[in-house]
Amino acid sequence: MHCDACRREAVVYQPYSGKHLCPVHFLKDFEAKAKHAIRSHGWLRPGDHIAVALSGDAASAALLFFLAKLTAARRDIRLSAITIDTGMSGSPAIAQAGAMAAACSVEWHCGSFAERYGMTIDEMVQKNGPDTARRSCRVLLCDLLGEIAEAHGATRCAFATTVDETAGDFFSSLLSGKVERTLFPAGVTGKTRIPAIRPFMDIPAPEVIRYAELCCGKYGTWDALLPGPCAGQDSLAADAQAALDMYSDRHPAAKFALANLAGTLAGIAAARGMTPSCPVCGEPIDGGECNACGIRRDVTRGTLL
Ligand SMILES: [Zn+2]
Ligand SMILES: [Zn+2]
Repeated sequence: MHCDACRREAVVYQPYSGKHLCPVHFLKDFEAKAKHAIRSHGWLRPGDHIAVALSGDAASAALLFFLAKLTAARRDIRLSAITIDTGMSGSPAIAQAGAMAAACSVEWHCGSFAERYGMTIDEMVQKNGPDTARRSCRVLLCDLLGEIAEAHGATRCAFATTVDETAGDFFSSLLSGKVERTLFPAGVTGKTRIPAIRPFMDIPAPEVIRYAELCCGKYGTWDALLPGPCAGQDSLAADAQAALDMYSDRHPAAKFALANLAGTLAGIAAARGMTPSCPVCGEPIDGGECNACGIRRDVTRGTLL
């Protein structure tokens, strides 16, 4: 199949636009979307120090590569990468993260669950079961990322969140009756409150992986999806994601619609002051108490682990 913009061989098909694109036109299209997200949210300003959350999977590698390219000629913007080793056994992610940081010539800072919290994610899963471990992991990961970012003077943390992730989270929170989680999304990084930016928020996950394969192919293996640092989803979220994936196969605009709706609802909730947030850490409050602070308290006391 040929590219719709030139005669070269296409490497990407976009079911939602009906377009086939060659590497040159795909990269152009991809980077234009990410730049548009950054511009429209005012996510890059002179003097910024952007710390990329570099887990070592395809999406995070793509994000670091893209931001390094975007800011290469900007002396007024500093870029660094932060990797958190949650202690998931057998994951090649940390080594890939190091290779990407070196390839992009950015400062690379690492933190580890074992050092900071005295416990790895593998141990948390063993002691508390996968669902509790995963919920705690998300909070503890963002807190540690934020701490390291703050220690190095970062002004924003960049996350490789895709349309698929936003749509999947929203869909499963709808189905589980916990839509307030999505209505009050984390615009900040853990309890440090450093603003979070998501340049790939309008891009589907398969295209982010394709971008990583095309641009970062020399530095790691990006074809298979590595498990995230918090080891996947709970069973309800996994079922919701599978149902949504199947539906999207025939209705390719569905994930964009869900992700847009989540953003619109969040905007309405914020404008109407419907966002109940924790007085201590600012996280959304779910059912009267702050989940995140509960997890932090349990970790400090040693009762979670
Ligand atoms: Zn082309
Ligand atoms: Zn709190």
